[in-house]
Amino acid sequence: MPALKHFHIYQRWGKKGYYRCTHSECSHYLHISLLDGKKSTCPLCHKEMILTKDMLRRAVPRCIYCSNTKFKGIRYTAMDLALELFTQE
Ligand SMILES: [Zn+2]
Ligand SMILES: [Zn+2]
Repeated sequence: MPALKHFHIYQRWGKKGYYRCTHSECSHYLHISLLDGKKSTCPLCHKEMILTKDMLRRAVPRCIYCSNTKFKGIRYTAMDLALELFTQE
């Protein structure tokens, strides 16, 4: 078997806050407290992404482009506003 080189696609696993990789030949798993900031693969568009706490609310974390657009819009507006306030003066 060739060595598996991929960024894991995480899926919530059990009830203790563990996530495991959905790849059929990968047995990797990690606790949610260690996943924040980790590189991962989006299960929908298969692009590389960095996991955030927001993404980890999902049973299967996905990238911001594949997330609910309404949610994304609200977040970005709030973020832009904060940035604007921050950069003024
Ligand atoms: Zn994996
Ligand atoms: Zn995606």
